[in-house]
Amino acid sequence: MSRADIPHPIRGTQDLLGEAVRRHQAVTTAFAQVSRLYGFAPVAVPVIEQTAVFARSIGETTDVVSKEMYSFTDRGGDSITLRPEFTAGLARAFLSEGWQQFVPLKLATHGPVFRYERPQKGRYRQFHQIDAEIIGAAEPQADIELLAMADQLLRTLGIAGVTLELNTLGDQPTRDAWRAALVAHFAAHRDQLSEESLVRLEKNPLRILDSKDPRDRPVADSAPGIDGFLTDEAALFFETVTRGLDAAGVAWTRNARLVRGLDYYRHTAFEFVTDRLGAQGTVLAGGRYDGLIEALGGPATPGVGWAAGIERLAMLIDAPAAPGIDVAVVPMGAAGEAAAGGILAALRRAGLACDMAYKGNMKRRMQKADAAGARFAVILGEDELARGEAAVKRLDTGEQAAVPLDRLAEWVGLETRG
Ligand code: ATP
Ligand code: MG
Repeated sequence: MSRADIPHPIRGTQDLLGEAVRRHQAVTTAFAQVSRLYGFAPVAVPVIEQTAVFARSIGETTDVVSKEMYSFTDRGGDSITLRPEFTAGLARAFLSEGWQQFVPLKLATHGPVFRYERPQKGRYRQFHQIDAEIIGAAEPQADIELLAMADQLLRTLGIAGVTLELNTLGDQPTRDAWRAALVAHFAAHRDQLSEESLVRLEKNPLRILDSKDPRDRPVADSAPGIDGFLTDEAALFFETVTRGLDAAGVAWTRNARLVRGLDYYRHTAFEFVTDRLGAQGTVLAGGRYDGLIEALGGPATPGVGWAAGIERLAMLIDAPAAPGIDVAVVPMGAAGEAAAGGILAALRRAGLACDMAYKGNMKRRMQKADAAGARFAVILGEDELARGEAAVKRLDTGEQAAVPLDRLAEWVGLETRG
């Protein structure tokens, strides 16, 4: 078979082995730990949903829905989409499973998500997110808790140099008034906007504020800020959040231009950003989405949450050490081979991580034991076996001892933990 006959991976997907997997696992393990400390329940939702779930909750005018979704018609003729994020599916589950009875519901989940984007470093078509949501809480304390949790996750992972950028998008009256002022401002400078922003002006004018097109920047930067439009209630909400963060020792900076893509964001919006990942500098992002569940046809239900890209976090952590094994079993000759299976099983049942090469002479097998990071080699020679013993070698010191077979697990276990 020539190389050209070998199937290729789908563009923007990744195959992970070794250190790459350990990095992913370090992120999900830390997330599980921190989720437990903050009282978030693990939850799982499907990878596929009706396309309408995302179209209605994320919003038709967003990049995700208009350009990035993996949608297809299934054999029954239904339009299905691979999830591009978790929030919409969790909101759908909240409604279809009757989880209203549990509010406020603190949920944590992680897994693959899919977006049709131009692949580059830190940007893939299948990537992975960790996600935390609080559904059914309108109180700013929920926003504070989620932000403190995100901050603690980054600390647990040992990630420094990430800044929390925070903004408020206000309540509905704030947003309506601000939107009208923005539309007036952008319309007055229509001739200076990019083609893309002219479309945004019709559909989702707030998005012009975080346009990356240099042509849009002067007009975006001179646009009226939200602060002049905040209702007393919205201003108080934001102040409560920032005070709560200060009290919890979570550092933040105000970014009054931060808007986020979703149509239903209200009040708090935030991103944790770093300059260590080039253009893909946002590692964790989220906000309050008080209108989302209603948009899905449910009762008015407040919600707030965030998601982080596992790949981007994994790039920022120190490489986790390879775990190694406790014991490599090294059989010599036919007697060794015959005894090895039972000894391996006994050691593994005793909770020791063991391995044995399928073939090879003693020298080769000892090399493999070293490469596997084994702490001990249990050498099964004919003479020792005849005496009911094995030679146990500590691979770091080279020390060797004869140990009765029936005490092997105990002996190695004591030495391993001692
Ligand atoms: P970006 O501006 O980088 O496209 P986004 O605003 O689309 O990000 P969100 O929808 O907020 O991202 O998703 C939350 C997080 O998921 C991001 O902060 C990022 O860490 C990660 N993420 C988003 N898209 C990708 C991707 N294509 N590949 C890898 N990670 C991604
Ligand atoms: Mg994006």
